[in-house]
Amino acid sequence: MIDLKKELKDVKYVAILGHIRPDGDCVGSCLGLYNYIVDNYDGIKVDVYLNPIPSCFGILENSNKIVNYIGFDLNDDINEFPKCIQGSYVRKEPYDVVFALDCSDARRLGPAYSVFKNAKKTICIDHHMNTDGFADVDYIIADYSSTCELIYNILDYDKINKSVAECLYTGIVTDTGVFQYDCCKAHTMTAAGMLMEKGIDYSFLIEYTFYEKSFKQQKILGTSLINAKRVYDNRIIYSYMDKAEMEELKASPKDFEGVCEKLRETKGVSTSFFMYRQPDGKIKGSLRGTDNNVDLSRVAANMNGGGHKKAAGFSFDDISMDEAVDIVIEELIKEYEIGNN
Ligand code: 5GP
Ligand code: MN
Repeated sequence: MIDLKKELKDVKYVAILGHIRPDGDCVGSCLGLYNYIVDNYDGIKVDVYLNPIPSCFGILENSNKIVNYIGFDLNDDINEFPKCIQGSYVRKEPYDVVFALDCSDARRLGPAYSVFKNAKKTICIDHHMNTDGFADVDYIIADYSSTCELIYNILDYDKINKSVAECLYTGIVTDTGVFQYDCCKAHTMTAAGMLMEKGIDYSFLIEYTFYEKSFKQQKILGTSLINAKRVYDNRIIYSYMDKAEMEELKASPKDFEGVCEKLRETKGVSTSFFMYRQPDGKIKGSLRGTDNNVDLSRVAANMNGGGHKKAAGFSFDDISMDEAVDIVIEELIKEYEIGNN
């Protein structure tokens, strides 16, 4: 466990970093910690660096203070200083303490790695299975519900204000699929319950950050479901969207949020995967599963990715979707055969 008070003693400059393509847990943990330090540590100047965040998280307090850097490719030169969106403030001098949140390895920081590398002291807080720890101080509990729950653990409850509670609650909700996935334990519910006591509008937060979709997203989901196919005795379901269809529907990466989960909900299915074409020509894929014997983080690790046992992500260079489908199915079946023997 991290003693936050001790880590922030005599500290003046703090940076908080999360992973590329930030999700609810990443944004919630970064802004939750940001709001907590701003509220409780008068003499500390804090900066948060993230890729542009999904718009639904714009309701979280101080989301407008995030320094948005662009460029989010895993193959980017991570030693390069982040190319920040014009007008954003970037401190070039080393920070006293830099937090890396919800990040399984340094590469996942993207170009913000340069801020991490320059730091006088680094702290990693994460819940991914394959995180070995890459900071001076690591607080990693594999398969914990979320980084937000870990942040909740290191904060002084009486000093958590409503905006901190909103951020942390949102991250717990999004990483547990609204308290559904098996990473959600009794202590997770306790943490969420204690955060509710701070007077947050939890029903609104769940609806706005998890369920609500734009009309366009619903159309994209519908098309993806219509295009879905099943293999391996109907236990694996998949769908994808390539460039032409994405252009036709004006679909961008953020519009695919939740599609893979919807595919997985199909009766009889234990694994789903969904892929789309990124603007740079690469393929980005997601894996979701329910089978305890099938470790999707291991499958993703063989395809330039990683993640959790039942939720993982991967990517391919510029290959055809048919080739990508064949590779993913082959890797999945390999994992099924290991798991079920
Ligand atoms: P998603 O499918 O939503 O992109 O990711 C699901 C989970 O896998 C998330 O916890 C995410 O952090 C992790 N993940 C996604 N892509 C990658 C990747 O390329 N590398 C690693 N290590 N983890 C990933
Ligand atoms: Mn997370």
